[in-house]
Amino acid sequence: KSKERGRNAMCFFDPTMQTVVVERVAMEAALRRGIDEAQFLLHYQAQVGAGNRVTGAEALVRWQHPERGIVAPAEFITLAEESGLVLPLGYKVLEDACARLARWSGEPELAHLTLAVNVSAQQFRQPGFVGDVLSIIGRTGADPNRLKLELTESVVVDNVQDIIDKMAALKAVGVSFSLDDFGIGYSSLSYLKQLPLDELKIDRSFVRDILIDPNDAVIARTIVALAQSLGLDVIAEGVENEAQRDFLERAGCHAWQGYFFCRPVPVAEFEAFASRNG
Ligand code: C2E
Ligand code: MG
Ligand code: MG
Ligand code: MG
Repeated sequence: KSKERGRNAMCFFDPTMQTVVVERVAMEAALRRGIDEAQFLLHYQAQVGAGNRVTGAEALVRWQHPERGIVAPAEFITLAEESGLVLPLGYKVLEDACARLARWSGEPELAHLTLAVNVSAQQFRQPGFVGDVLSIIGRTGADPNRLKLELTESVVVDNVQDIIDKMAALKAVGVSFSLDDFGIGYSSLSYLKQLPLDELKIDRSFVRDILIDPNDAVIARTIVALAQSLGLDVIAEGVENEAQRDFLERAGCHAWQGYFFCRPVPVAEFEAFASRNG
């Protein structure tokens, strides 16, 4: 028995564990280099409204890795957050997104589009966040009325007044706010009521089985009703087929995003899609 425990204690020196640590260090170095060498780019996924017309897009970051090709955020966002690299990365994402918005303003077929940008809790928590966003808007010439910032419920673990103040400062120039992945977090409804949000985004985990799981159907309907009673817009993510779209529409949700309409694609492809479906 005691020998067994002794062997367990030796787990600290487990070579596979060492491999994990080494890989992590290497990945972090690669991430850092990737940021310095501008290997990150944005893909755009359409957001659609009535008549399946494109009203805007969500910008989704991709890593154009020199050897591995396009890498999705699931493989690096957590490490970026833990290492603090999400700060320079998030700054670059906002710069690229705002530069894109500014270009759209000059194109008659694209000028009406909004652009949603994901902001990590750590990024939003920075004291300089509001100043950074305002200076990026100023420098790029983006129309703040077309910029939507997506926050997740994880921002709400902090001082609520600080969050409200930051949101208010950005809303004062026209920026709007969406609460991403709504329903899977742990924020209380009393926080939700206090935040100056514009939109709730129904998490795709509720959309997936909306036609077969009565619980998911009830949750989705409840989120729509909650949004309506709080005076907020509501959009559903992860819509993969027409039946899901139509179910959501009958439930009172008139904005959708998902593979059924368009996958996240490089900018030129999105612009062509938006022009065709404007
Ligand atoms: P999210 O913000 O909830 O973005 C939606 C995710 O769902 C995207 O994954 C998108 O490709 C995927 N998706 C869209 N439609 C469908 C569908 O119909 N079915 C399914 N199964 N999936 C769909 P992606 O691009 O891999 O991004 C994953 C997450 O990474 C995002 O979730 C977001 O939390 C984070 N992320 C992406 N870009 C950024 C960024 O620039 N900054 C930060 N902080 N996080 C980002
Ligand atoms: Mg999002
Ligand atoms: Mg989401
Ligand atoms: Mg999500």
